[in-house]
Amino acid sequence: MEYEAVIGLEVHVQLKTESKMFTTARQGFGASPNTYTDPVIMGLPGALPVMNLQAIEQSVRVGLICDSEIPEFCKWDRKNYFYPDSAKNYQITQYDQPICVGGELEVELTGPSRNVMGEHRKVKLTRAHLEEDVGKLTHFERDSLVDYNRAGTPLLEIVTEPDIRSSEEAVAFLQSLRMHLTAAGISDCDMEKGQMRCDANVSLRPKGSDVLNTRTEMKNLNSISGVKNAIESEIRRQYRVYQKGGTIVQETRRWDADSGMTQSMRGKEDAHDYRYFPDPDLMPVRLPREKVESLRAELPERVFDQQRRYQEQYDFPYTLTSVICFDFELSRFFETAMASYGKNPKALANYIANDLQRERAQSEQDGLLPIIDVKMQPAQLADLVRLVDEGVVAKHNAREVFIEMFNTGRDPEPIIKEKGLADDGDDGDLEAICKDAIAGNAKAAEEFRGGQAKAINSFMGPIMKASKGKANPQKVREMLEKLLSE
Ligand code: ADP
Ligand code: MG
Repeated sequence: MEYEAVIGLEVHVQLKTESKMFTTARQGFGASPNTYTDPVIMGLPGALPVMNLQAIEQSVRVGLICDSEIPEFCKWDRKNYFYPDSAKNYQITQYDQPICVGGELEVELTGPSRNVMGEHRKVKLTRAHLEEDVGKLTHFERDSLVDYNRAGTPLLEIVTEPDIRSSEEAVAFLQSLRMHLTAAGISDCDMEKGQMRCDANVSLRPKGSDVLNTRTEMKNLNSISGVKNAIESEIRRQYRVYQKGGTIVQETRRWDADSGMTQSMRGKEDAHDYRYFPDPDLMPVRLPREKVESLRAELPERVFDQQRRYQEQYDFPYTLTSVICFDFELSRFFETAMASYGKNPKALANYIANDLQRERAQSEQDGLLPIIDVKMQPAQLADLVRLVDEGVVAKHNAREVFIEMFNTGRDPEPIIKEKGLADDGDDGDLEAICKDAIAGNAKAAEEFRGGQAKAINSFMGPIMKASKGKANPQKVREMLEKLLSE
């Protein structure tokens, strides 16, 4: 029998806010343990939670990006449990009235090659609810240590419908979510820092059927490759169980990246009863429609909408849109440069996708120089493209100017003057050089006149040499064609 996988994800995203979900204690990654705490985080008697408006706005933004319904009211519930990752023996979360309901997110699947666009589809969402993150435990042989820095960080749990059919689609969903959330300044979604964490629910069913079979839930997936490998390994395991006529037990399984296997953590028998009840310390939230609409108006363009627009408006190939649009910092750089010059979008985009990325990679040990540390400003790049378009500097010399601009943050014009790269436009000179080159290669001249257009290339080397690299190839070509057809 042929099987298909049924997958639903629960993605936890830490929201970018100044302070924590229910108190003014700072939030962030990497501070010394237990410094981002206060009486609310420590659950001291009498300390009361106060809602963080910024976290609520960030959550609404996620819902708007995903076309979710934003109910007028949502409320806070206590999830009761006793474990040292929370100092107050309950977690504040949303149970039956979450901040976002339904919705969908567009994803792009991997194409046949890196340069070809993959299929697009939409993954349906169930809901997204806002809660507080818990502290982090580090276990040693005999003891465990707890760090409450992470406790109380605003955490949005985004739950998908069982609408995902492969590990590849799951990865595409996480990548799309990360692109959209980083672009809107909602979260940095850095999985290594735990800013985006994911549980995957997996079941199998006969291909084409619409039953939902017993599923397992996998936890501890802290990288994209972890998600991919865990889902694939779990699909194989369930397949083997069904092949042998066995049944799948509903359970939580832990992904162990080292062994590349999932292991049973706990079965349904010991599923927790959290005794949810409305938090008496917090008022329900009312979200005025005008507020929701003003947040909608400020949202950046969705990634794939921008990609389609660049294809249509600027005729960009996929190799450009997939670099520029899938990285909000690059698309911002492009938009700003474009606003400054207003012409030749393709040249601007090519400089950004190729030269800028190459130089960023070269000036950083591993990875890319952060865009904030790039000295060259978008308007300066726009200037360089304008100077090439106006013939002030030849295109083949602009790369050298670009590198100097990148390294120093200076404007292009003084660099061009200093390096003597200005295209002086002295065509008299060019004509003489071209005539010399033709005289020096009668055979190629013959071939060109005989209809072999490629023969013209034989003159390029000597001409570039004679002009010390300053000749503009386009002009040289035109001049040669003119002289050879005389
Ligand atoms: P829980 O509260 O136990 O986590 P939910 O009903 O909220 O369970 O579902 C959690 C996730 O499991 C959702 O992403 C959902 O899409 C997914 N899911 C539910 N049923 C199945 C199934 N049969 N196979 C795969 N995923 C499923
Ligand atoms: Mg769950």
